[in-house]
This record gives sequence, structure tokens and C-alpha cells, in this order.
Amino acid sequence: MTAYESVIGLEVHVQLKTNSKIFCSCPTGFGETANSQICPVCCGYPGVLPVLNKKAVDELVRAALAVGCRINPRSVFARKQYFYPDLPKNYQISQHDLPLAVNGHLDIPQKSGEKKTVRIQRIHLEEDAGKLLHAVGSRALDYSLVDLNRTGVPLMEIVSEPDIRSPEEASDYLDTLRTLLRYVGASECDMEKGSMRCDANVSIRPVGQTSLGTRAEVKNMNSLRSVRDAVAHEIARQIQVVESGGRVVQETRLWNQDEGATHSMRSKEEAHDYRYFPDPDLVPVELSADWIETLRRSLPELPEARCARYERDLGLSAYDAAVLTAEKTLADFFETALNRFEAPARREAAKPLSNWLTTELLGRLNAQRKTLDESPVSSVQLADLVKLILNGVINSKAAKVVFDHMFTEGGDPETIVKAKGLVQVDDEAEIGR
Ligand code: ADP
Ligand code: MG
Ligand code: ZN
Repeated sequence: MTAYESVIGLEVHVQLKTNSKIFCSCPTGFGETANSQICPVCCGYPGVLPVLNKKAVDELVRAALAVGCRINPRSVFARKQYFYPDLPKNYQISQHDLPLAVNGHLDIPQKSGEKKTVRIQRIHLEEDAGKLLHAVGSRALDYSLVDLNRTGVPLMEIVSEPDIRSPEEASDYLDTLRTLLRYVGASECDMEKGSMRCDANVSIRPVGQTSLGTRAEVKNMNSLRSVRDAVAHEIARQIQVVESGGRVVQETRLWNQDEGATHSMRSKEEAHDYRYFPDPDLVPVELSADWIETLRRSLPELPEARCARYERDLGLSAYDAAVLTAEKTLADFFETALNRFEAPARREAAKPLSNWLTTELLGRLNAQRKTLDESPVSSVQLADLVKLILNGVINSKAAKVVFDHMFTEGGDPETIVKAKGLVQVDDEAEIGR
């Protein structure tokens, strides 16, 4: 039996965090009344002119720098022509030959402790299309509605090289990318709200073969799990096709999560010729070295560096450091708490603080479906509780009682300890009395 290797490249669309759309001043809020966030520009009325939103460029460049891309000092918008009811201009403004950023890479931490590097081919800027709402009516009353609120929302498309080798790696890539983009603040990356979407290009080849096999592109996944399931299913389907003497054809397939299967949407023969050409309404984007440098300096410490620092300077395990740095808000909370300790005491405090934060506090918050921002216990209060334990004022059993009180009724740990008479008594004479 032939052993096969799977080869995957991802095209990820991410909504950039801006207040207004890419070429007009309409707002970008999610879930508003249909067609309440539109104007002649995003609706493509004749005679209107697009004006580029600088914030969209800035956020894309910051994200691109975070994945080590080279920023093109000059990039060009192109019209991608196709006809679909959610696209009022009948072309999408995108970038083709000259994208804003090229040649980056993303390092994915693996369980073995090694890192898997996936190269990023390009990141370009484009506008989103609208949304169709299909009313399933009778044969006489069967129609679709068009909502253009999303039309003109700024997106960046991040195209990877075909470096991914398994369904798990595909979802780890997305997970790592999402963490990074949230850190940078370039996007919310919420797959359920559509602010992060992914198309997977999948092919197989016999192990040892270096040339690429024919790929199918799988669309319509809206969670990390569905990406994993869809890619796994597509790999199995292709192996079956080849094993039964057939050939994989280049086509676009739609994933159906309920059925757990993909269906052919269009073949290469029906593939679009988008007739790209430079958009005559928009000037090329020219970025000076100074501008790029300013954006580079605006980046926060990135999760990889932060994680390494926690291991090195605080003596935390790789696991603890990864958990703490998975979300910026969590790592910030941890550091604010840790800074309550004098510098020499921080190494000793890091581990108990990490435990109280990730196990006790997050556990209680998760049970109530609350986020860290909504925590009734502040970072300072949590630090003070850990201080009382480390200084031997209370034992860990008493600490649980105090913590419970802090979480349910609020209050500072010292006050609660005094009020409840929980101070630990070490003095033997005192105990014996
Ligand atoms: P297109 O212009 O049709 O979108 P690209 O060549 O730009 O095609 O590739 C799009 C994506 O497909 C990239 O992420 C790339 O890594 C991936 N890809 C290309 N060839 C293959 C292949 N044979 N197997 C898996 N992925 C591939
Ligand atoms: Mg494609
Ligand atoms: Zn508009």
C-alpha cells in the first residue's frame, strides 16, 4: 500500500480593526440592522470615488511585521471582476501583483517543544462583499435578500505557502495566527462573527515525492474544529479517489459541517478569469521607511518573546508560560499582579500566582461564562492574597475561604482575613494554651 503525505496551504481572511470601512466613512459594527451601514461609495453608485482608510493600512502593516513580512514600499490596488448579487460594483477592490506585504513566516509551537515554521507568501488588503439572506419560501415566493453592511469592510488576506502537513497543523496555524493578531490588536479574529475566515487548499502525494499533487480548495469552515474536520475529510477523500484508480481534479469544494462532507462547487474549467487590472480610482500606496519603523515600534511584546521571557526570568514551565501568554489580557493581568511583589520576590511568586490565576480565578470565571475583564477579583487583590500565603499569614486552606469570599462578595484579602479571624498561628505556646 502506498503511504501518502498531505499538503495544505491556507488562505485566511481577517477583518482589520477599524471604526470605519476601507473606502468610505460607514461604520463597521457587527449585527446591526440590515443595510443601515451603507452609503453611495460602498454601494457602488456611479460617479463616487473611494478614499483609502489609513488605519486599515496601518493595522495590516503591523500584523505583517509581526509575522516577519517584508513591506512593499509601493503597492497597488487592483479590480477583481466577478458577478454576484452581494457585490454591487461587480468588482472587488483587492491587490494582485503588488500586495502590501510578502515573505513572512509563522512559528507554531508543538507539543514536542519544537517549532513548526509555515512560510507566508503574501498579505494583501481588500474590501469585503455583502451578505445574502436566503428566504426559503414556496415556489411562488422564493427569494434572497441582500445586506450590504459588510460591503467595504477592510480585510487582509494572509496566504500561506503549502507548508502545512496535517489537519491538526492547519488548526494550530490558525490558532497561533489568531493569538498573534489579537496581541497586535489588528483584528478580533472571531470566526463565529466572520472576522476570521479560512479557505484550505489540500492535496496529497506519495511519501517521498517532491512535486505537488493536484489540489482542491475547501471553503465554508467557521470554527477551528470545522477546519480540522474538513481538511481531514478532504485528505481521506483524495486518498480514496487515487486508491480506486481515479485522479484528483482541481476544484472548489464546500464543507458541510452537519453532513461532515464536502461537495463540489465549481471545477477549474468553470474557474473565474477575474481580469485583474490596476484600479484607476486609487493611487498606489507608498510607505516611507519612517512610517514602517513607527508602526514597528508600536507593536507590543509578541507572545513568543513573552513566553520565552516567563520561562527564562520567572522560572515558569513551558506549559505555564504558554497558558499565561495565550491571551494578551491574561498576560497583562498576570504581570500587573506580579509587579505588586518586590523585584527579588517575583521569581518565587510567579508559580503560585500563575496557579491562582489560571486554575482558581479562570476556573470560577469560566464556570460563570465571564471574561477576565469582568473579574470581581482585581490583579492587585489576587497578588495580595498570594502574598499572605507566601508570608505565612494564612495557610492554603484558609486562602481558599478568603478567595471564595473575594470572588462572591468582593473585598481585600487582608480585611477578610482579619474579619474572619483566619490568621495562621505558628506559635507553639499559643497553640498549646
Ligand atoms: P490561487 O491564485 O488559485 O488562489 P495560489 O497559487 O495563489 O492559487 O495558491 C493559493 C493557496 O494554495 C496558497 O495558500 C498555496 O500555498 C496553496 N497551494 C498551492 N498549490 C497547492 C497544492 N498543490 N497543494 C496544497 N496547497 C497548495
Ligand atoms: Mg484561492
Ligand atoms: Zn459606505
